[in-house]
Amino acid sequence: MSSVSPIQIPSRLPLLLTHEGVLLPGSTMRTSVDSARNLQLVRNRLLKGTSLQSTILGVIPNTPDPASDAQDLPPLHRIGTAALAVQVVGSNWPKPHYTLLITGLCRFQIVQVLKEKPYPIAEVEQLDRLEEFPSTCKMREELGELSEQFYKYAVQILDAVSLEERFKMTIPLLVRQIEGLKLLQKTRKPKQDDDKRVIAIRPIRRITHISGTLEDEDEDEDNDDIVMLEKKIQTSSMPEQAHKVCVKEIKRLKKMPQSMPEYALTRNYLELMVELPWNKSTTDRLDIRAARILLDNDHYAMEKLKKRVLEYLAVRQLKNNLKGPILCFVGPPGVGKTSVGRSVAKTLGREFHRIALGGVCDQSDIRGHRRTYVGSMPGRIINGLKTVGVNNPVFLLDEVDKLGKSLQGDPAAALLEVLDPEQNHNFTDHYLNVAFDLSQVLFIATANTTATIPAALLDRMEIIQVPGYTQEEKIEIAHRHLIPKQLEQHGLTPQQIQIPQVTTLDIITRYTREAGVRSLDRKLGAICRAVAVKVAEGQHKDAKLDRSDVTEREGCREHILEDEKPESISDTTDLALPPEMPILIDFHALKDILGPPMYEMEVSQRLSQPGVAIGLAWTPLGGEIMFVEASRMDGEGQLTLTGQLGDVMKESAHLAISWLRSNAKKYQLTNAFGSFDLLDNTDIHLHFPAGAVTKDGPSAGVTIVTCLASLFSGRLVRSDVAMTGEITLRGLVLPVGGIKDKVLAAHRAGLKQVIIPRRNEKDLEGIPGNVRQDLSFVTASCLDEVLNAAFDGGFTVKTRPGLLNSKL
Ligand code: ADP
Repeated sequence: MSSVSPIQIPSRLPLLLTHEGVLLPGSTMRTSVDSARNLQLVRNRLLKGTSLQSTILGVIPNTPDPASDAQDLPPLHRIGTAALAVQVVGSNWPKPHYTLLITGLCRFQIVQVLKEKPYPIAEVEQLDRLEEFPSTCKMREELGELSEQFYKYAVQILDAVSLEERFKMTIPLLVRQIEGLKLLQKTRKPKQDDDKRVIAIRPIRRITHISGTLEDEDEDEDNDDIVMLEKKIQTSSMPEQAHKVCVKEIKRLKKMPQSMPEYALTRNYLELMVELPWNKSTTDRLDIRAARILLDNDHYAMEKLKKRVLEYLAVRQLKNNLKGPILCFVGPPGVGKTSVGRSVAKTLGREFHRIALGGVCDQSDIRGHRRTYVGSMPGRIINGLKTVGVNNPVFLLDEVDKLGKSLQGDPAAALLEVLDPEQNHNFTDHYLNVAFDLSQVLFIATANTTATIPAALLDRMEIIQVPGYTQEEKIEIAHRHLIPKQLEQHGLTPQQIQIPQVTTLDIITRYTREAGVRSLDRKLGAICRAVAVKVAEGQHKDAKLDRSDVTEREGCREHILEDEKPESISDTTDLALPPEMPILIDFHALKDILGPPMYEMEVSQRLSQPGVAIGLAWTPLGGEIMFVEASRMDGEGQLTLTGQLGDVMKESAHLAISWLRSNAKKYQLTNAFGSFDLLDNTDIHLHFPAGAVTKDGPSAGVTIVTCLASLFSGRLVRSDVAMTGEITLRGLVLPVGGIKDKVLAAHRAGLKQVIIPRRNEKDLEGIPGNVRQDLSFVTASCLDEVLNAAFDGGFTVKTRPGLLNSKL
């Protein structure tokens, strides 16, 4: 046995009276606390105290007694077990109680009860040396779980202070248990058999070990592991401070009984410490020309982003350090932000790891949990480092705009510490409790919008906007990148499936409505899955298809016949489709696989009556076209607004109505009673249908005016015009943001003309040439101009809109 000095328990212990079994030294037990006496003890001793001493209790077995809540202390059993409270969990249901997880340390004997209320405290005498029990503790734990009948026996074992006496008492029990297990073995399946045998054999080994005849293999294994761990600590290149902590912890570990929950906790901790890449890094390789080629190969379009990333890398290379702002890619989902991050890692030859921050609202997610309770673990940064195994990875902090806040602290503050070059060489995770140097990590952040990034965090970042794609860009991305990737993932070759560009365009326009290419990618995946099934089926059927299959998918097959002219097919009754014939995905196949198109509603259909206009909204997911609908009814001049609105939108609606009322005469607008006072006996209902995202922002002003002008004039708004712009009470049109995204959305929707505020004219320069060619732009500085452009033949004859040729 070890020569360490014995651990002394306090000479006064609060007594916890349990009637749920007998806690033996070295074993662990869950016990429910609901008597007034015990509840007081838990509250005073465990929930208030912080020192280790205050979490040691004297556990006394108490015979189950219906009157256990009685005021008087029942006669106490003389011998008890000093225990460490490892965990306290409270609940109010079905009545207030705590559940304690306690680990037995050693026996004690009550010398004298010093105090009875509110809970008993006794002067005690320690009976066991604390380090003497490890080899038998597991056996006791197993015994401790036996049924109630065992209770009496267990108390006797508890009382048997001398090892020999204890041993004599446990042998018959073990024999009985082994017999029982043998019986079980016969009735159970082989696999379960094995498990049980292990348990059955274990006690025997331990018995022989005690009598000194056989080595205990399990324990040897554990000891070997500890020796290995110690070796790893010695040879690890961790900093001095961390090394010191490890040495201390392994010393503690060696003294601890293995059944103690803290044993596993400490061991996990040490294993993490030796595994962490304290000094391990990859060597950066950066050749800007190669980087450019790699970025170009992996990504179509996004020239501005690629250029900015290359500049960033070049500067970092020249300066040879990573200090400086963190790059943050901001744009709608699926535009390649993560993908570019991954390419940056690839160009540098660094490991890549993505840390999803969406919805994180507890700072321990970033900084770890303190190692004080079972289940504590390091935060995502340290976990990420363990995963990549080097200390200079590229960490992609995904969705920094979706960080939450809660009572558990502000994760943004923790993140700030991680990103701050002045502090992050000394980053301390709560679990680790020693500093780890993060200064070599290259952080890149992504977000959908800057609006919700905490200001302090935003301050540390350099924002690079990543706009959505045009239809043409999406087609290119699909054919250059997405389709080849999907084919590979599904084990298909271009000889088996053919997706023409018109089909891709169909998917883009009729099956998706997004700024990025994520849904498009998913739809392509669905197509590949369906084709993979067909190909696999075809292989099983020896590539033979019966007639019915052909007629069912007539459209698709006809196409193949036309294109490839395989004469043998058309005139054989036993139709054989050569396996090398690609399955062509045309419109019919698309409908078969993806179902009917999701976005078929013709814009012109919706604008077939007065009181509807198309606006353009900006959302964090990209631009969107937005219908505004209005109707009027008899009433008292009320305005009702429905749909997803922000407060600013409501203001715009009021402004629009006021402006129209004051200009009703000029435009000859009347209500249903022929009055120029538009709200006279009239209610107006404005609705902003569809779209899950709140369309906040003032930019709907011009659309609401147009929509109401249509309602009161009875004229239809042109069905190919979309508009955006803020308005003033006097009818001026003010500039708005997100012009590029909005214009792309109008283009996606197949519209022809876009009305924008004149002061936004400069923003048109950033719009791709082909989009500009397809659209014509009207720039307006006042509402007269907007209305003139929105209605065929103009709304008034007095002013003419400033028509701008799209080919700027
Ligand atoms: P984000 O991080 O912006 O939400 P991702 O990087 O996850 O988007 O992109 C979604 C998918 O689209 C990925 O498979 C990515 O490779 C692909 N992708 C996006 N943009 C491009 C592009 N310009 N060129 C090639 N592939 C792209």
